Amino acid sequence: MPVVTVAEGPVAVITFGEPPVNSLGSATRRDLAAAIDAAIADEAVTAIVIAGANGLFSAGADIKEFGTPAALASPNLRELIALVESSRKPVVAAIEGNCLGGGFELALGCHYRVAGAGAKLGLPEVKLGLLPGAGGTQRLPRLIGVEHALNLILAGAPIDAALFRGTPLLDELVKGAAVPAAVALAGRKSQELGGAAPPRVRDRRVKEPALDAFLGFARNSIRSGFAHYPAPLAIVDAVEQSATKDFENGMANERKLFAELMFGPVSVALRHLFFAERAAAKIPDVADSTPIRSVDRVAVIGGGTMGTGIAINFLNAGLPVRLLELGQDALDHGVARIGEIFQAQVKKGRLKAEDAASRAVLLSPTLRYEDLADCDLLIEAVFEDMEVKRQVFGRLDSIAHRGAILASNTSTLDLDEIAASTARPADVIGMHFFSPANVMKLLEVVRGRATGKDVLATVMRLSRKLGKTAVVSGVCDGFIGNRMLEQYLRQALFLIDEGASPTQIDAAIEAFGFAMGPFRMSDLAGNDIGWHIRKRRYVARPMMVYSRVADRLCELGRFGQKTGAGWYDYRPGDRNAHPSPVVERMLAEHRAGLGLGARSIADAEIVDRLVYALVNEAAKILEEGVANKSSDIDVVYVYGYGFPPWRGGPMCHADSVGLFGVVHRMAEFARNPHGDPAFWTPAPMLARLAATGQTFGSTGVRS
Ligand code: NAD
Repeated sequence: MPVVTVAEGPVAVITFGEPPVNSLGSATRRDLAAAIDAAIADEAVTAIVIAGANGLFSAGADIKEFGTPAALASPNLRELIALVESSRKPVVAAIEGNCLGGGFELALGCHYRVAGAGAKLGLPEVKLGLLPGAGGTQRLPRLIGVEHALNLILAGAPIDAALFRGTPLLDELVKGAAVPAAVALAGRKSQELGGAAPPRVRDRRVKEPALDAFLGFARNSIRSGFAHYPAPLAIVDAVEQSATKDFENGMANERKLFAELMFGPVSVALRHLFFAERAAAKIPDVADSTPIRSVDRVAVIGGGTMGTGIAINFLNAGLPVRLLELGQDALDHGVARIGEIFQAQVKKGRLKAEDAASRAVLLSPTLRYEDLADCDLLIEAVFEDMEVKRQVFGRLDSIAHRGAILASNTSTLDLDEIAASTARPADVIGMHFFSPANVMKLLEVVRGRATGKDVLATVMRLSRKLGKTAVVSGVCDGFIGNRMLEQYLRQALFLIDEGASPTQIDAAIEAFGFAMGPFRMSDLAGNDIGWHIRKRRYVARPMMVYSRVADRLCELGRFGQKTGAGWYDYRPGDRNAHPSPVVERMLAEHRAGLGLGARSIADAEIVDRLVYALVNEAAKILEEGVANKSSDIDVVYVYGYGFPPWRGGPMCHADSVGLFGVVHRMAEFARNPHGDPAFWTPAPMLARLAATGQTFGSTGVRS
């Protein structure tokens, strides 16, 4: 439904609709402006109500138009709002459901606002690296003051309209629908005004006695917490002007700041991720209409580190979970661990005690496979050993009901081989959770050769219920994320051989924006895990050159935080990493053994070698079809591996550097005699794209 005007006596009710979220794209803005113009010109109309169709006001501007000429097409959002604000007939916003971003700014341009039950207000622009660019930074503080306005704009989250009861932001807050109340208010106001101009938000001013102190505090907090993000400071600058400059100047400043952010690299990256996350849910050959299976009961097999975290996800979503272990002790331990995690959340105030209790009762521990017979989804999280997995899947196959989904949390093993140990490979899928499974947002959904489309669609849908961001990966060793990680870690170890210290490497990549450098991360995950994988590699892929330095570390029993010693030293009760003299000595001996002196390595070389190691492997993953599209790889790396979101992920970052530049730099690294001579051979896809001046983003979706 486009824009419809209905007369309610002398009040024109203009309703706009643009499924699914009533965004204010160029066509809607044009039609809305035409309807408002017509109502203003119509002598029979004394007042106007603007409402969104289908129970929601508007989620804001059309993000797809951002940075394109369509966003500026006349009337742009500012012009539309100015038209509303300048009307001599009072205009009332009837707010139902979400009223966000540009939609909220439109409501702020109206002379009066009426919110219905359940309405939510918010300015989420900051999440896309932007500021509200259609007057939000100027009008909102004029209604609720600088401090409240800044809190709302910087948080970016939708807030219950009821919280603004009694403030000048809302003229009425009603229990039911907003439109009838808005119509009544519009009629009353037009009579009261008797032809006088209605009040405009732009003419208001809130007294701000301690403005400088508050803004100083806000700026300091932002500098320490959001150093890489330009939008929050720009928001403070813009909002400050609402209190210190006149409206026109404040608007001009807002527009300038908005344009700078819009075309700056951080917003480009964050918008890329926004679309990437949504695109990840789309699978080329699985239609949205694919029937899904119902999942009402879940079983988790293995109550260790991962099994307990996985179980908590489903308990949080309100699904009953059966937890199966090998023996009573392990089972008790798993159940106790789940209880401890809930209690820790209660203690931190993140969970109510009664909710923890109601979730805990959904858990039923068992030692008998027969007790899992009525479960619809059975997830295995036992030891990473093919023989053990095959045995478990054989048992699951014998007891699970027809139509049940059998999932594995394996990180590296061949899902097709696991599926082959059942008589129903179409029902088998990988659900690769990340540790801690109840915290990490990423879920790699591994599609086996035989995995049914309905099974895939069901797990993707379910992931949303669990609050996860799911990305589909094909079968290969390590899937998307760990396969890339292996090359990154290999390169980190070559850098150690050549003279960089763990501290320098971690600091360099953390300054680039990674949440944690490779050595702090390995100490946290346990250095023994990588050791097991490498031992397997030495047998299976003897041609793959690996630095042996991490093996030497493990031979010293330095497995990381859990042993109080890894690449760094750890002190009891202190998780901070301290440089270790033992490791320094070991590294010096190791380099001497290789005949290498420690050379001084620039941080820029460290960063490029680590990041391009990821990019080159990712190009192979993309070409092989393990990932459907390059943006999926970005989602995996940002949500699962701490890649800086403000760089948009490794592929987005490489595209922004320029693939020709990436390949050129790799050629420089290839001249280094240390390491694996084949390492820096560009993946065929990367070489092709670089040679033709293309980007990963241009490669589209594999079907
Ligand atoms: P873990 O050793 O902490 O737990 C495994 C549990 O499985 C143990 O409690 C064990 O008693 C139980 N178990 C073993 N064989 C069993 C059987 N036949 N039946 C029932 N229970 C059995 O291991 P984890 O770290 O939780 O890893 C489990 C799986 O998750 C592995 O496949 C691993 O590769 C994968 N994974 C681990 C991580 C991680 O960071 N730890 C991340 C992603 C995936």
